[in-house]
Amino acid sequence: MLLKRNAGDSSPVEKGPAYVQLENVSKSFATAKAVSQLTVCITKGDFFSLLGPSGCGKTTTLRLIAGLDRPDEGRISISGEPVAAENTWVQPEKRGIGIVFQDYALFPHMTVAQNVAFGLKGYQREKAKERVAQLLELTGLIGLGERYTHELSGGQRQRVALARSLAPSPQVVLLDEPFSNLDADLREELRGETKRILKEQGTTAILVTHDQEEAFSLSDKVGVLNKGSLEQEGTPAEIYHHPCSKFVADFVGKADFIIGEIKNNTVSSAFGTFPLPSDQLRGTGQVELMVRPDDVLFNLDATGESTITEARFLGASVLYRLQFGNGPSIHAIRPSTEIYPVGARVRVKLDARHIVIFPNSCTRA
Ligand code: ATP
Repeated sequence: MLLKRNAGDSSPVEKGPAYVQLENVSKSFATAKAVSQLTVCITKGDFFSLLGPSGCGKTTTLRLIAGLDRPDEGRISISGEPVAAENTWVQPEKRGIGIVFQDYALFPHMTVAQNVAFGLKGYQREKAKERVAQLLELTGLIGLGERYTHELSGGQRQRVALARSLAPSPQVVLLDEPFSNLDADLREELRGETKRILKEQGTTAILVTHDQEEAFSLSDKVGVLNKGSLEQEGTPAEIYHHPCSKFVADFVGKADFIIGEIKNNTVSSAFGTFPLPSDQLRGTGQVELMVRPDDVLFNLDATGESTITEARFLGASVLYRLQFGNGPSIHAIRPSTEIYPVGARVRVKLDARHIVIFPNSCTRA
């Protein structure tokens, strides 16, 4: 019999004061339940990512926070004040929120400076000019203020969108997949710059993305959404190393699942036996082990029981597929300075520290 994991479960999430809070928020459309009983707490100044597959409710959640849609039930608060609840509704423009949309939604008939100044309606002319100049400097757009948006590159447009969202000094910025239209190099550069700018301003940021690498590289905390509900929340390392479900394990990074057996406080599998980690399932019985490629060690050994059946060159690293006899296979990652031939026999060792044990879903009642 197997017992559930103990308090080590999915690692406790340290929480500061909640700045943006959703409590049991639901939203349905005619044909779909987009968000279901969603509860999330986002700390002031954090960079928080909502991560999940297409259709899991990320954009709907962002729109609910922004006030572009109204929840069917539940409560949304910003800075301790309810902005959407049963008898409360604060208009989007009163919520102190800036938004960067996926397509940037810039005004084509306005110059860069006019776009950035758009949210500065209450400002005196001189003050607005000063603020625009500040933002153009902050976002690396000095000298481009008089251009129209069709005269800009994709990366420059993204910066204008960010500058425009930050102009009225919002406490929260919502980013809806703002890097997805950029090529890989530029995406990388702008991710870093966006984070730097938001941190410099002390702005709380909520990013929507289906890209795990993006969420991990930018975020203080990540919330993984599945079918409109929060499956897990934690730091990138917590989510990666201690996924609370197979859904999370599979969605964030490459993972193989192999059958294991727990007996006498040890776990055995085709790829070796190791002591049962104290924070994992306890008892006796068949389980599934989540093994990440970075937790698989191997060395060439003519008497080894596994064979390299595939090698995928990824640039800085090579992803190998290792097959145990005619049995299961797992993946291992190695720097591309170490090259091993396909067909070679190897001896495999699992680094047990990061292996996560799940009940065997094939045999579960
Ligand atoms: P993606 O990554 O593809 O943008 P998402 O996680 O942002 O997806 P949402 O856009 O929030 O997902 O959509 C969640 C669900 O709600 C989907 O099934 C979608 O079809 C549905 N949905 C979203 N907006 C509407 C709408 N205005 N009318 C009807 N259904 C909608």
